[in-house]
Amino acid sequence: MSVIVSIEDRPRLVRRQIVRIDEALCNGCGLCVSPCAEGAIVLIDGKAKVVREELCDGAGFCLGVCPTGALSIEERAAAPFDEHAAEAEMASRGKRMISQSCYLCGTGEERGVLLPCRHDGASLWVCTRCLPRLIHG
Ligand code: SF4
Repeated sequence: MSVIVSIEDRPRLVRRQIVRIDEALCNGCGLCVSPCAEGAIVLIDGKAKVVREELCDGAGFCLGVCPTGALSIEERAAAPFDEHAAEAEMASRGKRMISQSCYLCGTGEERGVLLPCRHDGASLWVCTRCLPRLIHG
């Protein structure tokens, strides 16, 4: 059975930045699901997918945690980011945060501010206290 969607019901597409997932590189580890506060990324059949474009703001906080480099940002026609839909999704899911920690000192995000980074071929989180050491050695 096919579902007919009228042109008026379809979200108008805009050209913008949005997360791209290379399924060939995705190993289904799920690490990218938690950093996506808006709930745009879900695991389906062992692969990460952006199931609702309007929940992805294209900020790319998920990129830093992917161990395989499967995530990137692309610019293409997509449904516009819907802040209200994202807030509703976050409220309905409740708190499902998987805490990340600084790869240098182990500080968790409950105690410090963490930034995603790439270092020596790996995707890592680093706290703001350790960031200068990472930059300047
Ligand atoms: S972090 Fe990368 S490899 Fe892991 S599920 Fe997400 S896209 Fe796939």
